[in-house]
Amino acid sequence: MSRIETTCVQGGYRPGNGEPREIPIVQSTTFKYDTSADMGKLFDLEASGYFYTRLQNPTNDYVAAKIAELEGGTAAMLTSSGQAASFFAVFNLASCGDHVVACSTIYGGTFNLFQVTMRKMGIEFTFVNPDCTEEELEAAFRPNTKAVFGETIANPALTVLDIGKFANAAHAHGVPLIVDNTFATPVNCRPFEWGADIVTHSTTKYMDGHGAAVGGCIVDSGKFDWMAHAEKFPGLTTPDDSYHGITYAEKFGKEGAFITKATAQLMRDFGSIQAPQNAFLLNLGLESLHVRMKQHCSNGLALAKFLSTHPQVEKVNYPSLPGDPYYELAQKYLPDGSCGVVSFEVKGGKPAAERFMKELKVFAIETHVADARSCCLHPASSTHRQMTEEELKAAGISGGLVRMSCGLEAGEDLVEDVAQALEKAF
Ligand SMILES: *Cc1c(COP(=O)(O)O)cnc(C)c1O
Repeated sequence: MSRIETTCVQGGYRPGNGEPREIPIVQSTTFKYDTSADMGKLFDLEASGYFYTRLQNPTNDYVAAKIAELEGGTAAMLTSSGQAASFFAVFNLASCGDHVVACSTIYGGTFNLFQVTMRKMGIEFTFVNPDCTEEELEAAFRPNTKAVFGETIANPALTVLDIGKFANAAHAHGVPLIVDNTFATPVNCRPFEWGADIVTHSTTKYMDGHGAAVGGCIVDSGKFDWMAHAEKFPGLTTPDDSYHGITYAEKFGKEGAFITKATAQLMRDFGSIQAPQNAFLLNLGLESLHVRMKQHCSNGLALAKFLSTHPQVEKVNYPSLPGDPYYELAQKYLPDGSCGVVSFEVKGGKPAAERFMKELKVFAIETHVADARSCCLHPASSTHRQMTEEELKAAGISGGLVRMSCGLEAGEDLVEDVAQALEKAF
């Protein structure tokens, strides 16, 4: 299948003669076999098939296959949340004593996962500014570095990752680049085309797009040669005793090793799988992703343009707005549009931001972003509350920053709502 629009609608699941047109929800925890020997083959990864929904379920796999096709990858898995996807993607490569280079502007939840929780597991992170020079990026690597992590469009800082620059640095050190592509979606950017090796998603956002189901996804490009860097990735390149001595990179090749290991070990042990019902809802969202992204982007641009000329607005962040510091990178990596999220700093800091938000009628205050209904959030007092002043600064967040997520309503209504709220707030 060639074009992205067609893959959004028909990718992943191709029914045979007389089979359901829409993907079946396999609402079953378990699967029946004729002999124990048959089941034994599954447990040894000698045959592929389903035996328990904590590890794999057919509904999830149809949807994961669609997302793999959208991203241009070779294998994918759904997870229960975007957080689980970020955790699995990194933990599949790095363990106690290892180190990861990450972008400082990543999503607050991911920052917390890395800096607090995964640090407790003995994994160290070095955070680099996305705009760092090649030399500064180079200096962040250590002999025990196992991966580089960044976001195509950072939530909520809206910085654009120079994917090529980060991929080159990662590859020069023999490690993969993991890109969280949640905000751009594969409709607007396919990081594998620019050198990324693994992509993660919070499918909770645009992919579902209706605020119905929390979920995540990991996609492997199938391009990273684990065996060429065997000493760095023993988990993929040496026998796994918990699967009768299978070596993932040998048995499943570059195309399948990463996702098979994440399924066989991490899903087995952590069980953070997406419910098949949620995968079904996610697939409904994916069927219109290409249509919706256009409207999200045009609403985002309209709001960004309005805010950029408003006297009470200190600064607007929107990568597709001419004059934005990330405009050039956005033109390169996101030529068809970026996303529906616009952030801006209102004059007067936190109190002014709170007054403004209270007056909004179409935009609702929510801990959410990127769905059909417009919403907004004050990062410094919610998602990024745990950060120190210094960390907030590195993440590009000030007291007056408001994150606006433009939904699918009429763009004129969104601009008028913001205009009236700004007028009342001052
Ligand atoms: C929301 C979000 C996450 C976390 O996803 P959940 O589905 O909420 O667990 C990760 N990365 C980005 C960019 C996000 O916006």
